[in-house]
Amino acid sequence: MKISIGSDHGGVELKALAVSALSGEFAIDDKGPFDRDPCDYPDYAVKVALDVASGAADFGVLICRSGIGMSMAANRFQNVRAALCHTVDAAVLSRQHNGANVICIAGDSVSGEYALEMIRAFAATPVDESERHARRRAKLERAGRLSDASGLLAADPEVFAAIAAQTAQEDTEINLIASENTSSRACREAAGSVLMNKYAEGYPGKRWYSGCVPVDAAEELARKRACELFGAEHANVQPHCGSAANMAVYFATIKPGDTILSMSLDQGGHLSHGSPVNFSGKIYNIVPYTVNRETEMLDYDEIERLALEIKPKILLTGASAYPRKIDFKRVREICDKAGCIMMVDMAHIAGLVAGGAHESPVPYADFVTTTTHKTLGGPRGGMVLCKEKWAKALDSAVFPGMQGGPLENIIAAKAVVFKEWMSEEKKGYAQQVVKNCQVLCKTVQDRGYRIVSGGTDNHLFLVDVKSTKGITGKEAAAALDAAGIVVNKNTIPYDTESPFKTSGIRVGTASVTTRGMKEAEMIKIGTWIADVLDNIADVSVQERVKREAKELVAGFPVP
Ligand SMILES: *Cc1c(COP(=O)(O)O)cnc(C)c1O
Repeated sequence: MKISIGSDHGGVELKALAVSALSGEFAIDDKGPFDRDPCDYPDYAVKVALDVASGAADFGVLICRSGIGMSMAANRFQNVRAALCHTVDAAVLSRQHNGANVICIAGDSVSGEYALEMIRAFAATPVDESERHARRRAKLERAGRLSDASGLLAADPEVFAAIAAQTAQEDTEINLIASENTSSRACREAAGSVLMNKYAEGYPGKRWYSGCVPVDAAEELARKRACELFGAEHANVQPHCGSAANMAVYFATIKPGDTILSMSLDQGGHLSHGSPVNFSGKIYNIVPYTVNRETEMLDYDEIERLALEIKPKILLTGASAYPRKIDFKRVREICDKAGCIMMVDMAHIAGLVAGGAHESPVPYADFVTTTTHKTLGGPRGGMVLCKEKWAKALDSAVFPGMQGGPLENIIAAKAVVFKEWMSEEKKGYAQQVVKNCQVLCKTVQDRGYRIVSGGTDNHLFLVDVKSTKGITGKEAAAALDAAGIVVNKNTIPYDTESPFKTSGIRVGTASVTTRGMKEAEMIKIGTWIADVLDNIADVSVQERVKREAKELVAGFPVP
């Protein structure tokens, strides 16, 4: 067992005694100080807390005259739980119940012998893993999640209020927005870090400003991990968002007026795939393809026919509201026949691809663009993966072509999330997102609701509320919102309603799966969705569901 130990000048003698008495029993890392000269207790508490937070030590020991300053300092660190103990009983209980991993000792109040007894008892006591104590420890660690932003309370209470409201919303509602997820604390720490202070125009090793060694390290990690995770030859992690990632590919490859063949926005495509109100539709000649009217799925023969007829420079697949798998091998064949660039926008399914729950487009496509915040669950941002032969053109399209300084804090958060995805746990997550989606979809379908294309293969599905109940997507989303279930209205293929009203809603399972929900919870949620939509004007149903939904989510805390 490894112990990290520290003190201030007031505790230095007791520390020396502990180190010599315990070094036969434990591997002890003495962080100092080593003389009686006056020093500042937080300096040593920080060293020990970092050892415990990083796992370099199994637990820590901090000694000062009262033990109070030491425990205050150590407890500021995430995952550090420092207990100030005056009795052996308290040392044992702090381990068992609170999972304390640092023991703070008041050198003025206890004898050397008794201090050793407390440290030995602390080390020998296992943490009680029963549900009630684990639950309380989890709450302690997250402190109601407001600890993330508590410094803002005094600095800017209005902004703090917005953050607190978002926190409360996440804690009490069921989020089924298909393009959203819930980021990890580690991701948010990187995103909110001091790396935002740095200007770093250029790329790692080739920057325009000095002082880029730390951000170079972060961006290099992000690029390397992206290539490893997705098996890509080259990655550009600088695009500020998914739309910018798409812009970068267009700028790297084609000229204004050139033709792009892409999925129509009202059938599931994206604004940045050529909508007339978007830069893409203004700069390029867009030919949209649609889904088959009967199956509501992609019709590859029809896409091939169009590609051979209009000879686009780019064939773009990938969507914001398509519930089925995309056959990338078939798309590659079409691109080869038509002699065009194959571009895939996997913004929605990137997490499924990373976790092996959807075939990867990377081996087939010239370019793969993505966001990092949808099923991938990272910071809001974009990325482009490409074959080596396009690397230079892509990098200069992003900088200096369209962006100035990159957001190195966000890039660091991307690196964090790519690493998270390399764990086995995350692969299981991707499979669970799809399983959850299929169970949720079937529950709603079994209540009589028409599902676009008859089902789902990925993380989302579309409910045709218009043909089923004669209500619009807008009305359905508003009723569900009042019941604590958050979805979005969405056009369905060949929709007869306007995009402001729509005939459908889009439902996704990335966020609820991140919170740990499984099939049993999906059945409950699907039943609530049908209950609310069956009784669209009945406020009492909405109130009942809201109550029950709040109870359910309380058991699945947000990370
Ligand atoms: C969400 C999305 C984007 C764009 O993302 P932003 O980060 O909002 O610009 C691009 N393409 C597809 C398919 C998307 O779903």
